[in-house]
Amino acid sequence: MEILRTLEQIQTFSKKSKESGKIIGLVPTMGALHEGHLSLVEYARRQCDVVIVSIFVNPVQFGPNEDYTMYPRCFAQDCEKLQLAGVDAVFHPTAQEMYPNGYCTYVMVDGEITHTLCGTQRPGHFRGVATVVTKLIHLAQADKAFFGQKDAQQVVVVRTFTKDLNIPCSIITVPIVRETSGLARSSRNRYLSPVERKAACILSQSLRQAKDAYIRGNHNADSLKQLVTQHLQKEPLALIDYVSLYTYPGLEPIQIISEPCLLAIAVRIGTVRLIDNVILGGDPL
Ligand code: AMP
Repeated sequence: MEILRTLEQIQTFSKKSKESGKIIGLVPTMGALHEGHLSLVEYARRQCDVVIVSIFVNPVQFGPNEDYTMYPRCFAQDCEKLQLAGVDAVFHPTAQEMYPNGYCTYVMVDGEITHTLCGTQRPGHFRGVATVVTKLIHLAQADKAFFGQKDAQQVVVVRTFTKDLNIPCSIITVPIVRETSGLARSSRNRYLSPVERKAACILSQSLRQAKDAYIRGNHNADSLKQLVTQHLQKEPLALIDYVSLYTYPGLEPIQIISEPCLLAIAVRIGTVRLIDNVILGGDPL
């Protein structure tokens, strides 16, 4: 497995792979890898000849009061996991390498899809995501890029700008990987104390309840959101950021569910902000 740290190194690696006719798969991550990330790698390995995983804690997608400096970084451990997973190259640049002095170009997806859900609480977040993903896809010359359904809004944003900017890279979505308790795997889970980790199961439980109610015939968006909210409120450690239901992938408001919809939540457990979601009414991706 090659470790690529500079733009020149990744460009040389990608050029060589392209010239030998290989299909290049890119898995963008911020590191602190877990089973969710490894599932993306597994999908990429099955669909591509060469797999590049990027590990880059992207400063541009963090707000001033967010956890950029605190975000877990464990590159050596991550590399061991990726080596075992059969990855061909890891791209691990510095922030200075990606955004050198004088850097001033950003990709902004303008529209409701970046202003709802996490866009409300995290202004500038999707501008940072869109910018770094655009750069990574270009640097890797990726034919396919793999993203987790856990960050459902991110998938919508990435699909939108790759289409709008005619970037010839297929965006592949991978299902959410969960712990046996139901808790969606996340790099931030490591910040949860044992008590908080137990409390965090309330996220997936509340979504499960809503999904069951939907299957039993409750297609009313307000009623399903209320069900989730009431369930989350039973957990004293849970502080709700949002409980939202939108069409998917359009992310438009809806009252009576008649097409695939995204029921998404963001909840703080202690200082840790967790997100989770479920698709109701089929999987459109
Ligand atoms: P991150 O390192 O948190 O930026 O995540 C990198 C990629 O892994 C994103 O596409 C995430 O959606 C995906 N991912 C994170 N957690 C999970 C999970 N539990 N299941 C599936 N994909 C995930």
